[in-house]
Amino acid sequence: MENSVLVIGAGAAGLMAAHALCKAGKKVTVLEARNRTGGRIHTLSDTSFFKQTELGAEFIHGDLPVTLDLLKEASLPFRSANAEMWRFQKGEFKENGMIIEDWELLTDRLNELTEDTNIYDFLQKEFGGEKYQTLTTAVWHYVSGYDTADPRNASAFALRNEWQHEDVEAQHRVDGGYCSIISYLCNSCKKHGGDVLLNSVVQQIEWANGQAKAICSDGAVYQAGQVLIAMPLGVLQATNGEIGAINFTPQIPEYTAAIQQMGFGAVIKILLEFKSSFWLDEKSRRMAGRDIDKMGYLFSDEEIPTWWAQTPDKSNVLTGWIGGPAAQEKTNNPDNEILEQGLRSLANIFKRDINDLKAMLIARRVMNWTADPFTRGSYAYDTVQAPQARKLLNTPIDNTLFFTGEYLYEGTAMGTVEAALTNGLDAARKMSL
Ligand SMILES: Cc1cc2nc3c(=O)[nH]c(=O)nc-3n(C[C@H](O)[C@H](O)[C@H](O)COP(=O)(O)OP(=O)(O)OC[C@H]3O[C@@H](n4cnc5c(N)ncnc54)[C@H](O)[C@@H]3O)c2cc1C
Repeated sequence: MENSVLVIGAGAAGLMAAHALCKAGKKVTVLEARNRTGGRIHTLSDTSFFKQTELGAEFIHGDLPVTLDLLKEASLPFRSANAEMWRFQKGEFKENGMIIEDWELLTDRLNELTEDTNIYDFLQKEFGGEKYQTLTTAVWHYVSGYDTADPRNASAFALRNEWQHEDVEAQHRVDGGYCSIISYLCNSCKKHGGDVLLNSVVQQIEWANGQAKAICSDGAVYQAGQVLIAMPLGVLQATNGEIGAINFTPQIPEYTAAIQQMGFGAVIKILLEFKSSFWLDEKSRRMAGRDIDKMGYLFSDEEIPTWWAQTPDKSNVLTGWIGGPAAQEKTNNPDNEILEQGLRSLANIFKRDINDLKAMLIARRVMNWTADPFTRGSYAYDTVQAPQARKLLNTPIDNTLFFTGEYLYEGTAMGTVEAALTNGLDAARKMSL
């Protein structure tokens, strides 16, 4: 019992912790609700279409140390995902989709801010009125689209911090897909005597100093000296009785309150595979006014606003993305409706007949992460209260209950796989001290 650990959740954070704990000689059992490992890492690799295409995490956003070290340790190669950013607005394609009027003024004002507030209130106060409409809309789109956050809840300080540390130059993709990292971690656990059990939905944690019991929805019971909760924030925020939700006995009211103070975004990702890359054809080229082979990301004002290709790889797959409040509103929409909205958005952007696009479509996949009971959202964003809440949640309870996940990471690569891996490693260190 003394040397044993239960890890609840086999995502990047849970498995990274399990990998380190197994190597440190702990007896580790990972309990995972789904019939697969990886959580928000989900590479499609066993299907006829979308070979090694990502339903969840896709990019390494910069030269991120823990991810790159792990890739090196696992001898997993990665490649550049750098591509041009374009914007489609008012019927026109424009390169450098990220250049926004008055952006410098905005960052100056943000830098002068002395007390945190949410970004929506900040914009209303500093940039209200018609004059800055383009700017405030652009910030709303950035915060909801990229951070998948609700701007009415997202911290202005956190956004400032994010922009100060952004490394837009280096984007990478893992060869073989992000799932290669997950397989490596899983195999390493097993090699060091750990167990990774699937289809194990933990509903209840009973704990006392130095002992913990996890009770699953099928009645299975597991015991250990320590337990690491590696579930997504969205599931921890779920109400008792909802699928995936977890109950603690005795209760941990301060921790439960802290969980509710943190922000968890919303996202839908759409994968479309066509017979050919129609977006690179002569008609698109004429519309763009130049060669668009390097176009990776395309931002628009369409219902499904953001699209990207697999550039610089050659591929007939387009990915659609909608985040933040607009994705939240679609939580209960059927996938077919979202697919139709995606195709309509593409038809509008590239001036095609939607029926022609449908005829060219050979595979489709809509992944509504917010509707997924074992995620219930996208990834964390900072609210004004988040730093305090995170500090508490990173503090173990009686050396028995521990939390980990991307949402508890203290660094600048928030909401990423790097965040999950780093925090998983930190949690393992705390547990084996
Ligand atoms: C659409 C999308 C795109 C993204 N793109 C990128 C990207 O390009 N680059 C990047 O770095 N990051 C990206 N991210 C974020 C990244 O995927 C996450 O930050 C990271 O994978 C989270 O890891 P985690 O271990 O904290 O959580 P998760 O991966 O969510 O793992 C938690 C695990 O807990 C399990 N679980 C839940 N409830 C229970 C229960 N009751 N009992 C047992 N198990 C349970 C879940 O099934 C899951 O396996 C993206 C995320 C999404 C959703």
